[in-house]
Amino acid sequence: GSFWLAYQPIIALESHEVLGIEALLRWNHPTRGNLAPAQFIDLAEETGLILPIGRWVLREACARTAEWNAQRGDGRAFSVTVNLSVRQLESSSLLADVQAALAESGLLPSLLVLEITENALMHRTESTVERLHELKGIGVRLAIDDFGTGYSSLSYLQQFPVDILKIDRAFTDGLMRGTHDDALTRTIIALGDLLTLRTIAEGVEHARQHSRLRDLGCDYGQGYLFSRPLAPRDMEVLLTRGFLEIPGEAPIVLRA
Ligand code: C2E
Ligand code: MG
Ligand code: MG
Repeated sequence: GSFWLAYQPIIALESHEVLGIEALLRWNHPTRGNLAPAQFIDLAEETGLILPIGRWVLREACARTAEWNAQRGDGRAFSVTVNLSVRQLESSSLLADVQAALAESGLLPSLLVLEITENALMHRTESTVERLHELKGIGVRLAIDDFGTGYSSLSYLQQFPVDILKIDRAFTDGLMRGTHDDALTRTIIALGDLLTLRTIAEGVEHARQHSRLRDLGCDYGQGYLFSRPLAPRDMEVLLTRGFLEIPGEAPIVLRA
């Protein structure tokens, strides 16, 4: 009962709307306070506890999102993104876990995005590839997290039914520096375009990155400029208020 999920809005850069949220795990530790995943995910993977934890994350994220979408009642719905660990990907119960989370919450499969880091995909086997195709088959979308930072080959983009590339923060940071990093970001966006994948830039902190990404044709952005990850209570405040305030820019509305 000490885990909880923070939710970070994902913004459509062209239409200036919140299109979805990413669920990010937190552990409210009895003596150490709130811990970020970097402080416990590796241990959870080693011990195998990531499986029950991951199952809980799926159910909780789907249930909350379905609740919020119902509360909005305007026929518009957020998508929710859940991070998967390599252990979950290897687990034969993943498909059933995802189906259970969707069935219990009533969330449409198309509103669930599962994120897998590029590094996790390095461990791919025939059965994980098959599993991803099965997930895709029930209508869930798949994203590659931290794209461009893993030690993997681009050939997996042909094997996996991927929908979204998440451009790692390192490249978004590059937009503030020289032309070399800028070139890499542009290349990833172009790659996404050619493969008809959506692109999401992570770690957008400055207005300059926002405008550059929009000019380059990046579809979505996520980062402190728009919003920090929000506790459920703060998500509810956002839902009531109906917009995100951005310093020096027009407010971002929830999908109108
Ligand atoms: P990620 O999925 O790439 O998530 C993005 C991380 O960047 C989050 O860190 C988020 O708080 C942070 N972030 C967002 N915007 C900005 C920004 O503008 N600037 C900076 N500097 N950081 C930003 P967080 O929440 O600590 O999560 C770290 C990683 O832990 C995640 O990276 C993800 O790989 C993993 N993770 C989180 N939740 C789960 C989970 O439920 N299951 C699993 N297996 N992994 C999780
Ligand atoms: Mg992620
Ligand atoms: Mg990432």
